[in-house]
Amino acid sequence: MESNDGKLRKCSTCGEEKDARFFGKRKGSKDGLNKSCKECKRAVNAKYYKKNKEAISAKAKKAYEKNKGKHAEYRKRNRDRIAEYNREWRSKQREKDRSAFAGNCEKAGAGANAKNY
Ligand SMILES: [Zn+2]
Repeated sequence: MESNDGKLRKCSTCGEEKDARFFGKRKGSKDGLNKSCKECKRAVNAKYYKKNKEAISAKAKKAYEKNKGKHAEYRKRNRDRIAEYNREWRSKQREKDRSAFAGNCEKAGAGANAKNY
């Protein structure tokens, strides 16, 4: 093998020598590739997420709390419109449920009247 394409690259995390295609691209690095192989990168990311899960969700919660006031205000201002929207949604949902139920009857062969719907 004399082609440079199959050049092996040592992963700085697991120390394994792998083909360059097992490494993710990274702008700004000497050869445009990550120092760690994709597999290690994935493991590191998973670890990072696990470690920071609480911080991440705390951040999300904070953002939620920040927006909650706005939402409450919006709800208050548009109470009638939202109520109407919900009512419409519910009646639509009921219709959907009914037709699904009718479909089931037909499938089960229990509804001789199914055709009359
Ligand atoms: Zn690796």
